[in-house]
Amino acid sequence: MAQMMINGKSTPALSGKTLDVLAPSDGLVYDSIPRGEAADVDLACSAARAALEGPWGRFSALERSRLLLNFSRKILDHLDELTDIEARDTGKPLTAARADITVLARYFEYYGGAADKIHGQVIPFLNDYSALLVREPLGVTAHIIPWNYPAQMFGRSTAPALAMGNAVVVKPAEDACLSVIRVAELAQEVGFPPGAINIVTGLGEEAGASLAEHPGIDFISFTGSNEVGIKIQQAAALNAVKCVLELGGKTAHVVFDDANFELAVPTIIKGIVQNTGQTCVAGSRLLVQKEIYTGFMAMLAEAFAKVRAGTPEMDANCGPVISEKQFRRVNRFIDAGINDGLEIICQGEILPGVPEGGYFIAPTLFSADDHSSDLLTQEIFGPVLVALPFSDEADAIRLSNATDYGLQGAVWTENGSRQQRMARGIRCGQLYINCFGAGGGVELPFGGVKRSGHGREKGFIALEELSTTKTIVQFYGA
Ligand code: NAP
Ligand code: MG
Repeated sequence: MAQMMINGKSTPALSGKTLDVLAPSDGLVYDSIPRGEAADVDLACSAARAALEGPWGRFSALERSRLLLNFSRKILDHLDELTDIEARDTGKPLTAARADITVLARYFEYYGGAADKIHGQVIPFLNDYSALLVREPLGVTAHIIPWNYPAQMFGRSTAPALAMGNAVVVKPAEDACLSVIRVAELAQEVGFPPGAINIVTGLGEEAGASLAEHPGIDFISFTGSNEVGIKIQQAAALNAVKCVLELGGKTAHVVFDDANFELAVPTIIKGIVQNTGQTCVAGSRLLVQKEIYTGFMAMLAEAFAKVRAGTPEMDANCGPVISEKQFRRVNRFIDAGINDGLEIICQGEILPGVPEGGYFIAPTLFSADDHSSDLLTQEIFGPVLVALPFSDEADAIRLSNATDYGLQGAVWTENGSRQQRMARGIRCGQLYINCFGAGGGVELPFGGVKRSGHGREKGFIALEELSTTKTIVQFYGA
């Protein structure tokens, strides 16, 4: 049975309650996790505060840097073990799980390298005064992360926090948290003092809500759905603490008539099939210039039909979706698309031999005539791509921006001026030109505008989000 990590010790819930862990590939129970509640969250927050007031708070920047770098190496030493844990827990192909663990290690490498290179400032001020701006940790930082990339999300959220000297309390998702638990054990082995990294598992409405509203936290970062994101911001408001929200997305690829089709087609397919479409930045809409619509869609369909879904061991293009709940939700969207009159252009294949109880969905490519269907405005979080023709640049920008979300965008054209006009016109936090990325890119600031949330993760900017400044003014005249 997996355990939580509180104050450096693997621990069950105080109540002794547990939750079943299922494998999405076969729907069968194979482990359990503690069902943490308010009392467990309380212990974790106290342990984090004590760590800040104790040994962890006295770590120099250089010591934190070396510790994070050692942690990164330790994660890579356990690459095979962590890959297996992640693949079984989420259902994703082994190759994808392996890439995720490598990215997790990269987060600690990147932020370990940065930890001792954050400088303050000396501000020119009045004669005989010195004015300093120093950067300090926020304190106890709370991190509520989703099930789609548990290991990566743990790295993305906590590595900059730890680099800046915060103590973290993490609530991973009930549906996939075993890699996070194992990584937290490795953190103890590598020398993080007790309480610097705490993990409370459990249900969102119990452990998650208790953490979000806990008076002992100084910051909260959340990745997940809009509905819960709003609750997190309300909880943060009651304690007057800052929050960073990474919510959903509805990324559109825009393909112009002069695009490099050979480059665009496989990239667009990977962008929706990767992680079975369960990615906030999944390229789930495809806008194609009307003059090339038929030709481009034929080329896309030929490649899309070859997409395969299978178990982690089959190492197909994608796995099952995470749970029965998501299985039903994604299938509801596919049915709604058919009811809305959208045309199914083609579907990929579920490989023969997948277990009967697995949550497999055939990747589906739809074509629409207008932007009215829910499939074009709602986040599906499954392997469903909907294409739509557009007339000109203005139409492409209007359609790109025709959702409440604003996380990521992508443009395919060889015309440099058009690349710039499109890049400036699309409202989002990350914009790709003739390429597309999800998941990696540790160096690249990431986050949304509109209903996709606010605040930034990844890159150096995350170190600013996870710290605060103090202005120190000193008079040294006679
Ligand atoms: P979710 O409910 O927003 O879950 C995200 C995290 O928040 C999980 O750790 C969850 O815990 C926790 N949580 C749930 N209710 C909470 C509450 N009241 N207070 C504090 N924490 C709470 O997302 P989901 O149910 O897994 O998925 C639903 C939809 O969210 C998806 O279909 C997708 O559209 C979106 N989503 C987006 C992302 C993203 O990366 N942007 C990731 C995942 C999901 P438990 O899961 O343990 O309950
Ligand atoms: Mg699982």
